[in-house]
Amino acid sequence: MYSFDYHRPGSVADVAKALLANPEARLLAGGQTLIPTLKQRLAQPAAVIDLGGIADLKMIKRDGATLVIGAMATHDMVARSADVKAAIPALAALAGGIGDPQVRNVGTIGGSVANNDPAADYPAAVLALGATVVTNKRQIVADQFFAGMFSTVLDAGEIITALHFPVPKKAAYAKFEQRASRYALVGAFVADTGAGVRCAITGCGAGGVFRSAEIEAALAKMFAADALKGVKISVANIMGDIHGSAEYRAAMVPVIAARAVAMAV
Ligand SMILES: Cc1cc2nc3c(=O)[nH]c(=O)nc-3n(C[C@H](O)[C@H](O)[C@H](O)COP(=O)(O)OP(=O)(O)OC[C@H]3O[C@@H](n4cnc5c(N)ncnc54)[C@H](O)[C@@H]3O)c2cc1C
Repeated sequence: MYSFDYHRPGSVADVAKALLANPEARLLAGGQTLIPTLKQRLAQPAAVIDLGGIADLKMIKRDGATLVIGAMATHDMVARSADVKAAIPALAALAGGIGDPQVRNVGTIGGSVANNDPAADYPAAVLALGATVVTNKRQIVADQFFAGMFSTVLDAGEIITALHFPVPKKAAYAKFEQRASRYALVGAFVADTGAGVRCAITGCGAGGVFRSAEIEAALAKMFAADALKGVKISVANIMGDIHGSAEYRAAMVPVIAARAVAMAV
């Protein structure tokens, strides 16, 4: 690890000021991704700005038809929250299935969404539920937020402050996981939003998380697991690695999506 200056401001405004003074600084949330990156010397920021001192970002509340989750809410907080369990139980279950207790106790929803790992779970929920990413500068709808593997439309130094999830009629998340890390090899989040059916797939997209037009079209006709029998996913945009080929993952997408639909209904 290279040496760096460490800052721990007490408000989002002070984080923004610290970023202005240190434009090359990196934000630190749970550190589950950033700290290994620094340890391996894959990044050399002059400063690290820790969001851990901002109490306002560590909150969860129901606001009418919207579930509001602060960026620094840990996976464990989301998994245990009575508000999340009541409004979107699929989201609580997803959070409870991330990694292991150590990872869930420190990893945050804001860090996960900003990082946009192609195998991460939250991006699928954000996209399928049509959530809004709230930053210190603007509000970004999910369909416009994810910009490719490990990439989002966040500007340098833009801070995610919260996620706004519209409460769906029905939703569920299923994943076929890598046994050691519990990252998704194929994960499917399905939601009947009331305004239509959305299905986001994680773990296998060559460009990261994506909505599956094939699955959404089949589920729009009938929101049932049987509707996905015979649905084929093209391998063109599916990635393969040592854990599974692109063909294998493409074949798994409708299977995992059908499991999610069965859970939702
Ligand atoms: C062993 C292990 C197993 C895991 N298993 C899973 C799994 O099964 N499923 C899964 O989805 N994830 C998994 N993860 C990922 C983990 O849960 C975290 O979500 C992830 O590492 C990032 O969250 P973090 O809070 O640690 O962010 P950090 O590592 O602190 O930050 C990650 C990146 O996001 C930026 N950032 C952080 N917060 C903000 C913000 N508020 N605004 C803007 N940018 C920000 C940082 O600058 C950095 O670039 C695993 C991680 C480990 C180490």
